[in-house]
Amino acid sequence: MTWFHRLRLRVLAIVLAGGLAVFAMISWLALPALPVIGVAVITVAAVVNTVTHRLASPVCWQCGEDIGEAPKGVHGAMCRGCGAVNQQVGTKRA
Ligand SMILES: [Zn+2]
Repeated sequence: MTWFHRLRLRVLAIVLAGGLAVFAMISWLALPALPVIGVAVITVAAVVNTVTHRLASPVCWQCGEDIGEAPKGVHGAMCRGCGAVNQQVGTKRA
């Protein structure tokens, strides 16, 4: 399982956990639905943004290593860590 697949599963788990937490707070604690849903959406968005912030810079989708300085060929950049060839997505932050 690649780094990117693990990242996608992690995001899915965060979203599902947020949904279950909203359901639990509304049904068991009898909290009003709209404020709970609003806070949950903001919290899940912030957590997903934090978890996926590395995708803004060029990283290897196989192992997660930075490929901003990796040698680039016709088919993409080759990761120095695992040797996978990646299409470079994102730009290097200064
Ligand atoms: Zn790699």
